[in-house]
Amino acid sequence: MSGFQSPRGLRDLLEPLASAHGWAIDRAWAAADAAGYARIELPIAEESGLFERAVGGTSDIVAKELYRLEPRGDDAVSLALRPEATAGAVRAYIQHGMRSQPQPVRLVTVAHLFRYDRPQKGRYRQFTQFDLEAIGDGGPGIDLEVIELGAAYLRNLGLSDVQVHLNSVGCSACRPAYVESLRAYFTPAMHELSEVDQSRLTANPLRLLDSKDPAVIKRVADAPLITDHLCGDCAAHHAAVMAGLATIGVTVLAAPRLVRGLDYYTRTAWEYLLPGEQGQQGALGGGGRYDGLVELLGGPATPAIGFAIGIDRVVLALEERGLLPVRAVGATIVVAGIEPDSVADRVAIASQLRTAGSSARADVSSRKIGRQLESAVRDGARAVIIVEPDGRLTLRDLVKASQAEPAERSEVIAAALRLVQNEG
Ligand code: AMP
Repeated sequence: MSGFQSPRGLRDLLEPLASAHGWAIDRAWAAADAAGYARIELPIAEESGLFERAVGGTSDIVAKELYRLEPRGDDAVSLALRPEATAGAVRAYIQHGMRSQPQPVRLVTVAHLFRYDRPQKGRYRQFTQFDLEAIGDGGPGIDLEVIELGAAYLRNLGLSDVQVHLNSVGCSACRPAYVESLRAYFTPAMHELSEVDQSRLTANPLRLLDSKDPAVIKRVADAPLITDHLCGDCAAHHAAVMAGLATIGVTVLAAPRLVRGLDYYTRTAWEYLLPGEQGQQGALGGGGRYDGLVELLGGPATPAIGFAIGIDRVVLALEERGLLPVRAVGATIVVAGIEPDSVADRVAIASQLRTAGSSARADVSSRKIGRQLESAVRDGARAVIIVEPDGRLTLRDLVKASQAEPAERSEVIAAALRLVQNEG
């Protein structure tokens, strides 16, 4: 045995989790396809500068958690593994001139992401997000569409009590005054803050609302609320989103302390949570309007909105509730053989069955037929086709434990397919 282990925070997914992840991802693509979103596959690494510009050099994601790649000979610029998908999607929107398409441009991707974070339950260094973006529409209608799509996706997976925690973080017109009032509120208590929170107070007081420090959390309870400081346009947008969501059938909770600490976020911000879960750590996903990002990355001023739902957290929630889908692993039909030299025939027949739509595998061993049958039963197969020494085939029904007379190939293959398809 080698002494190698998977690196810390980078997991192997075995069954049933591997299938559950695949299932949740398939459902994500399907949900977005059904709503007319175009799929986009983005590279797993981008220029480091893209993330530095988009997410911000002082954010944890970039300052502490970015996996930078060692520069290689012909790389003109330094690259990093993506810690989020929105920056890449916006980069692609600009690069491919999607501005000239009808707006909004609706995009969906499923992205493997990397953050050098402290691994714990629900927090890994490699994880996967269902990421949906609608770029080019500033009205509240698209907010409703995007928020509802994420909620419906989670509900349809079986997380029917999902809640949307919703806030507005204002815009460049109204947020600066709010940030100042927050700074003024916390400054007298500066000496009580940790070093990290002191530097937040200076650089971006909004992030104090996310602090994990119990003393800060207590103070946050009485801190000024952004919703009391919104300008007229932001207040009207927020009211329209709240009112629209009320008719949609997801539980919406006003979350006036929910912020996204990055400057390009504007107006609508939300998280998908299950009852009893705390924000951030417990969130299944989150979203926000980012009306400033396209411009920040060198494009024309373009409003946009999107969400990211964590597939790993979704699967964890389903597992905790006993709702993991179980995919039967193993073939429905096993093709066995009396003579060892029938192995190539068995493989060919199994392939023919798969082409016809059944799941099938050959027993490729030279074991006695009795052993081959035992292992087919152990694997949960429905039927066995036995290749006889004269080349004819015998169909054995493992559920009824009955066996037909040997017959011609095409006849037995058709009978086997009928048997499994009638039940499928
Ligand atoms: P964020 O991109 O940080 O807003 O996170 C959006 C969602 O991605 C979260 O609600 C989680 O479901 C998921 N997520 C974020 N970071 C991690 C992580 N380190 N491990 C697993 N899932 C994560």
